[in-house]
Amino acid sequence: MTEPTPQTATAGGPLVARTPEELRRALSGPGHVALVPTMGALHGGHRSLMRLARERADTVVVSVFVNPLQFGPDEDFDRYPRDLAADTALCAEEGVDVVFAPSVATMYPAPQMVTVDAGPMGERLEGASRPGHFTGVLTVVAKLLNLVRPDTAVFGEKDAQQIALVRRMVADLDVPVEIVGAPILRDPDGLASSSRNVYLSDAERRSALALSRALRAGREAAAGGPDAVRAAAHAVLDGAAGAAPPVVLDYLALVDAATFTEAAPGHRGDAVLAVAARVGSTRLIDNVSIPL
Ligand code: AMP
Repeated sequence: MTEPTPQTATAGGPLVARTPEELRRALSGPGHVALVPTMGALHGGHRSLMRLARERADTVVVSVFVNPLQFGPDEDFDRYPRDLAADTALCAEEGVDVVFAPSVATMYPAPQMVTVDAGPMGERLEGASRPGHFTGVLTVVAKLLNLVRPDTAVFGEKDAQQIALVRRMVADLDVPVEIVGAPILRDPDGLASSSRNVYLSDAERRSALALSRALRAGREAAAGGPDAVRAAAHAVLDGAAGAAPPVVLDYLALVDAATFTEAAPGHRGDAVLAVAARVGSTRLIDNVSIPL
């Protein structure tokens, strides 16, 4: 019997696998496999992850899956931008071999009863603002790692707490995969590239630039220690709170890079200055690493 071939969206482009069976057939060959997990609406930031994957692997897999488990009931799951044809075309430009784009029913055929608990580190910052978010993230990442079985998985430092938690999951649960971090890609105006930036009006985007400005100000104050870093960043964000449209701060925190606990006054080592804020109806996050 002839095996059905996974659908190819672009001539010469990646194989598009919609089910675990199609994925398995696409990955039957030997060699180093690298996975880039995404929610689609791909942009330059995702491209940089694909390039790191391409440097390391014979086969690059990009997963495109808007994971309902990591969205709260009042979040943007329904309106999150989705365009698989555009995503597949971008993947073709980056020489990606396989796009894994399962449906929600394929990934979650029944209510998920067993999940990966992100622990206390998953309850701070993003986890405090978005209860259950990191359980959803780690659960889908565990499923994708089990489905693809990559040697390497590439994540962006844009989601600093996410990659720190993925590293912890892999260490604590002995998952046999190498985690590679990709630096944050920024648009020319300094705004961190994000699929959610399409929600911003021109005026909102101008206000949103305060996030990266605040992080830069914080980093420039590093010599003064943690409190000086926080004060410098807060000064920028306080100004932006009065802008039109305003930047509504969710959190600004200077944390230890590995544990995401607050950096104490005498903190030495790598820290992350992380910010989350709302501009209009769009929630944005950004961060910068600061050696202290
Ligand atoms: P997302 O599709 O937003 O879930 O992101 C998929 C992956 O791309 C995650 O590992 C993100 O951290 C990473 N990513 C998204 N935006 C950027 C960016 N501007 N720079 C670097 N990595 C990014």
